[in-house]
Amino acid sequence: MPDASDTASDNAPNFIHEHIEAELASDALAASALCTRFPPEPNGYLHIGHVKAIWVSFGTALKYGGRFNLRLDDTNPIAEEAEFVEAIQQDVRWLGYDWSDRLFFASDYYEQLYLWAEQLIEAGKAYVDESSLEQIRTRRGDFYHVGEDSPYRERPAAESLDLFRRMRAGEFPDGAMVLRAKIDMAHKNLNMRDPPMYRILHARHHRTGASWCIYPMYDFAHGQSDAIEGISHSLCTLEFEDHRPLYDWFIEALGLEPRPRQIEFAKLLLSHTVLSKRRLRQLVEQGHVAGWDDPRMPTIAGMRRRGFSAEALLSLCERVGVSKRDAVVDIELFEHLQREHLNTDCPRAMAVLRPLKLVITNYPEQQEESFEAQNHPEYPEQGTRSLPFCRELYVEREDFREQAPKKWFRLAPGREVRLRYACLVTCQEVIRDEDGEPVELRCSWDPTSRGGTPADGRKVRGTLHWVSARHAVDAEMRLYDRLFSDPDPLGAAGDGDFTRLKNAGSLEVLRGVKLEPALEGAPAGARYQFERLGYFAVDPDSTGHQPVWNRTLTLRDSWAKLEKKQRA
Ligand code: ATP
Ligand code: MG
Repeated sequence: MPDASDTASDNAPNFIHEHIEAELASDALAASALCTRFPPEPNGYLHIGHVKAIWVSFGTALKYGGRFNLRLDDTNPIAEEAEFVEAIQQDVRWLGYDWSDRLFFASDYYEQLYLWAEQLIEAGKAYVDESSLEQIRTRRGDFYHVGEDSPYRERPAAESLDLFRRMRAGEFPDGAMVLRAKIDMAHKNLNMRDPPMYRILHARHHRTGASWCIYPMYDFAHGQSDAIEGISHSLCTLEFEDHRPLYDWFIEALGLEPRPRQIEFAKLLLSHTVLSKRRLRQLVEQGHVAGWDDPRMPTIAGMRRRGFSAEALLSLCERVGVSKRDAVVDIELFEHLQREHLNTDCPRAMAVLRPLKLVITNYPEQQEESFEAQNHPEYPEQGTRSLPFCRELYVEREDFREQAPKKWFRLAPGREVRLRYACLVTCQEVIRDEDGEPVELRCSWDPTSRGGTPADGRKVRGTLHWVSARHAVDAEMRLYDRLFSDPDPLGAAGDGDFTRLKNAGSLEVLRGVKLEPALEGAPAGARYQFERLGYFAVDPDSTGHQPVWNRTLTLRDSWAKLEKKQRA
């Protein structure tokens, strides 16, 4: 698997920028004429690959003072839904791009496209073919064999025109015939072997309703839609390279000016996941995830819900750059950039995921006090908050060990630790349930250690997070792991079904998680770093009675460690 990250630097090369700078410098292009677009088909939610496509198209226009359009390429009424149209807009906006009033739909151009199709028929450059789809497929040939002309290829233009009009009028059932471009059945590029332009589909469209029963093929709509909008640069991924001659052929045959110029770049792929709406749709429809915005999904909606930052997504694009070489981005790099951003962005708070009660036996039952805690250690200007403290607290179950090795600096019988911002406590006794599991630690505290430093200045290495049992807020916590343990799930699945490789442990739900009281009522989308645990965000499922949080990431940054090692 090639790896994009090995060539990544803070300023990765971007051949499209170089290209446009050259055009601007040579006066071949005026900044005012620069116009790009992002053209998703509304048949699913956008994913991290689209973040790159949006960043390439919109980012380039912004950088050089051009315009950019959002266009929904909605030529397939069967797969497309209004829900996706809405979701796409919300996601692009969340990334921070404002297309102003330049939202377009390929379906807005249906009438114009239809007229152009008639024009090509009249010019002898398109014909109606009544062969079956199967016949069309077999006569197309393949890479090694030239195609074979259809028996309908030489029919008079007037006959094709008549049939085409009757196709539109709804006289024929689905699949009865198609309109094809008349190009070259021996062309070495299979896309040029008389590709279909229109098909009959008696299906309701999410925008045009029942007005049409013929629909343009994506390849016929795409380039002309660009031309209608005055797109100067159609930036798209490499799989469209083989379609470019066809787009150019249509534009030329129709005599459209100025011509959109298509430039292809490599996709962004991510390890441990699958992209492409088709596959993500399979995960959703077969119930492998809870929906398009499941926080394990590489969709923009899923990543937003998980608590990932839009800014860090865009900085990943900067890091990887734009080239013609397909490459897989290591998910560790993605997570590293998120952590870097979240670390500066998120205020700190305390939560205990798997609570174990800690009772301070020499602290009076009725007494309470509070300790000052910093909201952000690197930004003192963000101030402090007070943490209530009393005789009963919760600490993390895994911060206690009965049999602790010498280098264990957390809780164990007889060991002293610091409770962050509060004081020093020593574990005196362990209460167990009938299975022998510890359920309560009975500890003593040093009243001279208020704030964390004892009067005699003795050193204590371990510092733990905690919350006051009396004041804690209960929450549900959803912990996520990678959706696929294998870095290359499609490769590993081979011809088999990739969904079988889903990581069964990719979601763990914890109930009865204890949060510090300041977090009560935190709104959906709010993000915090829970001390020692990681980054967390409030889920939209959260309610006043039952707060729900998502763990965005743990704090363990293996990418940063690797980088440090490489530098050393
Ligand atoms: P489908 O499986 O339905 O083809 P898709 O994920 O390829 O879905 P499209 O709607 O075909 O999505 O793509 C919209 C635009 O996004 C296209 O211009 C395409 O070039 C670009 N794009 C798609 N996937 C990626 C990716 N992984 N990296 C960068 N750009 C992408
Ligand atoms: Mg695609």
